Amino acid sequence: MLVLSPVEVSEQIVQKVKDAGVVGAGGAGFPTHVKIAACPEPRRRAKVDTVIANGAECDPLLRCDQQLMAAYAPEIIEGLRLVMRASGAEKGVVALKREYTGAVGALRRATRQGENISLHLMESYYPAGDEFVLVYEVTGRLVPETGLPLDVDCIVQNVGTLFNIALAQKGIPVTHRFLTVTGAVNEPRTLNLPIGTPIGEAVAWAGGIKIPPWSARTEEDYAVVVGGPMMGWLAQGLSEAITKTTTGLIVLPRNNVVVRYLGRPLGSWVKRGRSTCDQCRDCTDLCPRYLLGHDLEPHKVMRSLNYGLTEPTAIITAAVLCCECRLCEAYACPLELSPMTYYKEIKRQLAAQGWKPVLSSVEVNVVHKRSDLTPHPMREYRRVPLERLVARLGLSEYQECTCPLDEQEYQPKRVAIPLKQHLGAPSQPVVKIGDRVQRGDLIARIPEGKIGANVHASISGRVEAVTDEHIVIVA
Ligand code: SF4
Ligand code: SF4
Repeated sequence: MLVLSPVEVSEQIVQKVKDAGVVGAGGAGFPTHVKIAACPEPRRRAKVDTVIANGAECDPLLRCDQQLMAAYAPEIIEGLRLVMRASGAEKGVVALKREYTGAVGALRRATRQGENISLHLMESYYPAGDEFVLVYEVTGRLVPETGLPLDVDCIVQNVGTLFNIALAQKGIPVTHRFLTVTGAVNEPRTLNLPIGTPIGEAVAWAGGIKIPPWSARTEEDYAVVVGGPMMGWLAQGLSEAITKTTTGLIVLPRNNVVVRYLGRPLGSWVKRGRSTCDQCRDCTDLCPRYLLGHDLEPHKVMRSLNYGLTEPTAIITAAVLCCECRLCEAYACPLELSPMTYYKEIKRQLAAQGWKPVLSSVEVNVVHKRSDLTPHPMREYRRVPLERLVARLGLSEYQECTCPLDEQEYQPKRVAIPLKQHLGAPSQPVVKIGDRVQRGDLIARIPEGKIGANVHASISGRVEAVTDEHIVIVA
């Protein structure tokens, strides 16, 4: 029998993950085969000692990760074992909230006696699932400014990604996505849908928009948030497609604070900031990255940009330290202002000028690279309880819904599968109009020499269109 070396085993796992088109399912969509190969330098790969499964699911109203952990714990633990093997890590930790009792029990049962996999139970606060926060909570290590968990010998993988990694080892590619459809819908639920399903159909399968009988509202008075209310964005239309990274769809009345904030343009945020910021510094005092010791003080960027640039430029370029958790905007600021929006725009402009905060060359970023960090002494008292965040966002009426996991096979008649659902280059189509494809067939591949992800048919049918953005399949 052929016996493979640890390096060959690792390469085999990584290759299967690459073939299956697995990307970070928690939202960012970083290609997983790149992440679990840890680093091109073997020296760094050998240094990874801990893989953390991120099951914190801290964005309000989302349920899919906790339900996945309860229903598919053996697959998630197997995915964790595979990443440990691929990266050479000795220890695996599943980090999730204490209150996810069903998931906690299932994960404990799925873990073998004697293996080095444990659970780390967290309280319910936001943003418990931020990678840097998670690494600190689980290991006590502080990821350097503009660094990666890898810099402190850790890899963090969302539990949905681990599920897909386990399937990839059996040769099953990513074709479907578990996502929570909730808010103002008649039958909130978590569905497992083919990638490329229009969000309008997903909302219909959750019973459609729920309009109270006494209300004069129409469907036009509702908007759909793609993702969670903190990390998501407003859907441009009901034909927008579900992707590998869609964690949820939240239907909300247009006068809800989440919809108002997400829909407000940059110019309006700046006008408001100029006229009302009183430098109370609440945004800084609650910023999770500032509390970890990163040199990020959002009240100062407001001061600099609102009243003229008299501060050192590092206060502006500190934008690269912001993780865009929206806590400053949606919770901390008493005056409805958004330092995060300023930071996002600064980051956009820095990126346009070639500033790459992550994996950058030293010459580009010499300022925001501190690793001698000290967490703020009040950090543990400044965690934002999820319940209070939910109330602030006007979402309390939706928080308690049971939102069951519905595993029926929903089959849309038509899917528009995006070629870019991940960080990196868009995938290149390998099919043409008129081709017949089966569910799971490769339809677009990673361009040669680029970082990206393969894309597979999510339903069987005929290719109706191939554009720069989508491959459309009709059942
Ligand atoms: S919390 Fe709001 S008002 Fe206070 S400093 Fe920050 S942006 Fe200004
Ligand atoms: S979004 Fe606001 S609170 Fe969150 S990391 Fe950025 S500055 Fe800090």
